[in-house]
Amino acid sequence: MADARGNLTVLGCSPSWQNVGEACTSFLVDAPGTRMLIDCGNGAFSKLRERCDYLSVDAIAITHTHGDHILDLLPFAYALLYSPRALKGESRRPRLLLPPGSTDRLRAIFDLIDRAELLDLAYDVEEYDPAVSSTVGSLTLDFAPVPHFVPTHAVRVSTEAGGRLVFGADHRPCQKIIDFATGADVLLLEATLLAPEEGVRGHITSVEAAEIALAAGVGQLVLTHMSDELPREQLVAQAAALHPDTALAVPGATYTF
Ligand SMILES: [Zn+2]
Ligand SMILES: [Zn+2]
Repeated sequence: MADARGNLTVLGCSPSWQNVGEACTSFLVDAPGTRMLIDCGNGAFSKLRERCDYLSVDAIAITHTHGDHILDLLPFAYALLYSPRALKGESRRPRLLLPPGSTDRLRAIFDLIDRAELLDLAYDVEEYDPAVSSTVGSLTLDFAPVPHFVPTHAVRVSTEAGGRLVFGADHRPCQKIIDFATGADVLLLEATLLAPEEGVRGHITSVEAAEIALAAGVGQLVLTHMSDELPREQLVAQAAALHPDTALAVPGATYTF
């Protein structure tokens, strides 16, 4: 049933600094009766407003508290609390699903920029438990810890029709993401690097993303978090040589799962 499927729309797919005219990581997920965001990086709130009314967002799930995944939670909070509609009493508190143990870190960030209490005034804050599924409207969310520089979780979004989308967040190569993504219809992976880093690793290349997609037996691989200062066409072609159904995430693109 086409109308029972989920759609993911790219709001932002830049790495830790914005590509020209673009936003950092944020994805809009629509399913029957449900609208949510995965991450809310810098620049994402304006891109959200190009797509829909921000008051229609039921929940925001955060993979980790690096700035490029959370910074637009602040302007989103201002809009929820101080926009002309909010001042007339027309607002809501979307659910904010945070990684375990990160609420105080986010309150501290809000406190440095403005006031810590804005976080809880604007959002219905909860921390997810990777051992238990979370429900957001008609969607089921599962989280898995992945190795990165701060506590980080990949997220799997499942529809009632059985569609599955997995976003790996940021991570180094690991078996965990292969196991977690197995059989996904759409696998969204970072492809930050031109070549593997020296020392402690926290990101992957496009070829490593394709190796994960192959091992996990997914449908479509979508590469994100890639700088426009890299030879992107060449890197996507290298990934597609391993996993043919591979695309580069671009702002506004929609993927069905
Ligand atoms: Zn990132
Ligand atoms: Zn990160």
